[in-house]
Amino acid sequence: MVEEAFDRKATPVEIPAERPQEYYGKLVFNRKKMFEYLPKKVYDQLVYAIENKKPLGRELADEIADGMRRWAIDNGARHYTHWFAPLTGGTAEKHDAFIEHDGKGGVVEEFSGKLLVQQEPDASSFPNGGIRNTFEARGYSAWDISSPAFILDQTLCIPTIFISYTGESLDYKTPLLRALNSVDKAAAAVARYFDPEVQHVISYLGWEQEYFLVDESLYSARPDLVMTGRTLMGHESPKNQQLEDHYFGSIPSRVEAFMLDLEIRCHKLGIPVKTRHNEVAPNQFECAPVFEETNLANDHNLLLMSVMAETARQHNFRVLLHEKPFAGVNGSGKHNNWSLGTDRGAMLFSPGRTPMDNLQFITFVVNVMAAVHRHNGLLKASIMSATNAHRLGANEAPPAIISIFTGTQLADILSRLKESKGTDLSDLRTKSEFSIGLSQIPEIMLDNTDRNRTSPFAFTGNRFEFRAVGSSANCASAMIVLNAAVAEQLADFKEKVDVRVAAGEDLNAALIEEIRALIIASESVHFDGNGYSEEWKAEAARRGLDCETSAPLIFDAYLRPESVDMFRKTGVLSEIELQARNEVKWEMYTKKIQIEARVLGDLALNHIIPVATRYQSVLVENMVKMRQLLGEERAAQLGAGDIEAIEKIAMHMENIRRLVAQMVDARKKANTIVSEREKAIAYHDNVTGVMETIRYHIDKLELLVDNEMWPLPKYRELLFIR
Ligand code: ADP
Ligand code: MG
Repeated sequence: MVEEAFDRKATPVEIPAERPQEYYGKLVFNRKKMFEYLPKKVYDQLVYAIENKKPLGRELADEIADGMRRWAIDNGARHYTHWFAPLTGGTAEKHDAFIEHDGKGGVVEEFSGKLLVQQEPDASSFPNGGIRNTFEARGYSAWDISSPAFILDQTLCIPTIFISYTGESLDYKTPLLRALNSVDKAAAAVARYFDPEVQHVISYLGWEQEYFLVDESLYSARPDLVMTGRTLMGHESPKNQQLEDHYFGSIPSRVEAFMLDLEIRCHKLGIPVKTRHNEVAPNQFECAPVFEETNLANDHNLLLMSVMAETARQHNFRVLLHEKPFAGVNGSGKHNNWSLGTDRGAMLFSPGRTPMDNLQFITFVVNVMAAVHRHNGLLKASIMSATNAHRLGANEAPPAIISIFTGTQLADILSRLKESKGTDLSDLRTKSEFSIGLSQIPEIMLDNTDRNRTSPFAFTGNRFEFRAVGSSANCASAMIVLNAAVAEQLADFKEKVDVRVAAGEDLNAALIEEIRALIIASESVHFDGNGYSEEWKAEAARRGLDCETSAPLIFDAYLRPESVDMFRKTGVLSEIELQARNEVKWEMYTKKIQIEARVLGDLALNHIIPVATRYQSVLVENMVKMRQLLGEERAAQLGAGDIEAIEKIAMHMENIRRLVAQMVDARKKANTIVSEREKAIAYHDNVTGVMETIRYHIDKLELLVDNEMWPLPKYRELLFIR
């Protein structure tokens, strides 16, 4: 098995004859295809609806569906599906063939506007946190015209939202679209202080997807990887990342072939992947696209994750998107690079050329800071999950405390603004300290290489980088909270500035006053030091930041009055939706730990203990024979090491048996708890810790037992692709 894994050659990649710009978006029903397949009038109406976020009429939908079907069939599609992101994570699809009865005993390929626009998937198998039980049993999916349809595996995929009949969201896309609308409105209103022509503000997302690759045959021999996506046991390899020789090192040819194949497939699907490189841990890699509008970027990330899984299999790999597949080496995240820009081309987190541009820049940056300060616990909840919990708060990025890193230049500007006095801009201009603060920025390009890898939320020159997001997560979860929190903050800011202006204050002075107040109010979330240090944990607690580390308790942040209020004001999620979604979060948490605990128990009792026993009896037999041959005394001398090993093995096995029984007991008790929240807390408090201790004893056995007998591929095999 190991030999097979190491002898494998790279799978040849089918490289298109054309250049990327020719096959880019080939499998996407984009504007070019729409223009080609739709009557001009229909095309114009559709583009108008997309650009102005207007609903489609039924007649229009019929014509679009017809054009879309013809395009899809011309490109080899046989089925269609509504493609959506349920609360389980990942994506869901139910495929239907295009065929309908032709009335003559045969079939025709058809696709009506009704089927394009709306479907009723049998949704009872998706988690809903009780919404559909209390209200309506049905849910339906509806086309999101802002994200184009595409063809994946001969299936036309139509990006949709998924909601209950009473309008509650059962997915990630619905609240994401609402959050993007609310930040558009609130940010555009503030941007108009600086440019009255602004109509819309667009939210942008550029994700960086980290992942591990493992050889398929080794993966199949690890039930823990197959069932849970991570290794539940395994002693550290003598060499892992300590030499730092993997990061940006040369990419093995098998992996390079996989990456090339993935890139070609992504480009055909209109996913603008651009960057690929090795990551810190062995077998860990990253891929990142050019940033896009947040809703589309998020769909592209979801699509990438499924294309990645499939491409990997064709290269005899399995891709691991779990946040912490291996203990002792870095885990995987998905940095969310995020920014706001106006429809007039201004990027709101980029310093500009004039003092006014810079006042705009400072306005937006400071409001983001204030939003992160107000909702730091909620932002943490937005990225928390049973899997990401292994990564956060561990001795690697990022800590389980949300703070903002600004870098020295921005920190300097903020502190000068804070110290400056006066409210009148013309007056302030005469003060050298202030005029340096604003008008000098254009000359000193903000230094975006000033990086602090330990910060969960960093300003990086023209954007913010939310680094705490997990590699397997749907980015929408983080993007919903971030965009909504910033929308709320900007709306509050505008209200205060407007009150001042109505009272006769000069606009610039009003802005500066409010900016200064925000800098002071949100100071405690600003931290440029080492986020991994113990001192920071203590300091953050003193500052009143959310330092909770238990995932089930972190989820409570969604139901705090200030969160419920924020989601209500921005129209992103109602209290009922929030409650239902939290039920799902707790339930998912419990189920993940439950599965891991079962797999660990099975492996411990059925794989590890029998093998350890067998090896132990080899040692015992050897001792008996030594005694026969050499006599009691001499055998005791020469066999001291064996006796010690026999005892150690016995001790570890005894501990494993006892702890597995304890773990099973804890689970049984937890399973009787009715409240999802309390159950998740019980799993967190009483199960996860025991699992770690069981693992400790198994890993010790791995070092004692004959390598030939050990039933599972070891870290040194899993982690090094040759
Ligand atoms: P690094 O690894 O140095 O953080 P990468 O180049 O790997 O940076 O990834 C940066 C990501 O940030 C890319 O996806 C890029 O498109 C995205 N990005 C760059 N500028 C912006 C911006 N203004 N808004 C959103 N995303 C951005
Ligand atoms: Mg980054």
